[in-house]
Amino acid sequence: SFYHQARFLTSAAKLEQSPPDTGAEVAFAGRSNAGKSSAINALCQQKSLARTSKTPGRTQLLNFFALDPEHRLVDLPGYGYAKVAEQIKRQWQAELAAYLEQRTSLRGVILLADARHPLKEFDLQMLEWSGQIQLPVHLLLTKADKLKRGAAAKSLQQVKQALKQINGMHSVQLFSALKRQGIDEVHAVLDKWLEV
Ligand code: GDP
Repeated sequence: SFYHQARFLTSAAKLEQSPPDTGAEVAFAGRSNAGKSSAINALCQQKSLARTSKTPGRTQLLNFFALDPEHRLVDLPGYGYAKVAEQIKRQWQAELAAYLEQRTSLRGVILLADARHPLKEFDLQMLEWSGQIQLPVHLLLTKADKLKRGAAAKSLQQVKQALKQINGMHSVQLFSALKRQGIDEVHAVLDKWLEV
């Protein structure tokens, strides 16, 4: 697929270090350990494009992946671990908010949350920021394979219900990188946002 072409482009510790703001890109966000690296690797059919099983909370950079010269995927820093100092968290939040607001080529956010405990503070914050600037969010309820079919369906329904109370353009689906569940559905969202 188109996403198989993804290759690492660059890391940016600060917004100013991002590649030129041209073409279109989609960002991936989620708390540490949500399964973001595994999802990016599964979507791009690559084993180690995004690093997995790193120290929780270590990813402090924006990582850019090029699909072609005009289309990118962006791995946003995850946080949510108590071990990370409050000041570092605030710094990341400010950087994230600035990226979401200022990045013209940004078409939407794929937000990842563990299907067993979704809509934590970080997730709600991302939904709120995105809603305020009318940026679409597609939520992946990850590690769906860890739930029985009925429990997964229930989690999906509960999140759909909760999202109705939140302003903004959002959609949600179940996802498992391990079982490769929901990959086509995510590709369809990316295709639409990136206009490919
Ligand atoms: P990140 O911190 O959000 O990038 O999360 P990772 O992709 O590194 O995954 C965190 C942990 O969850 C790792 O131990 C993964 O093996 C595990 N994990 C990720 N995706 C899945 C999945 O679809 N199913 C299951 N069972 N485990 C997963």
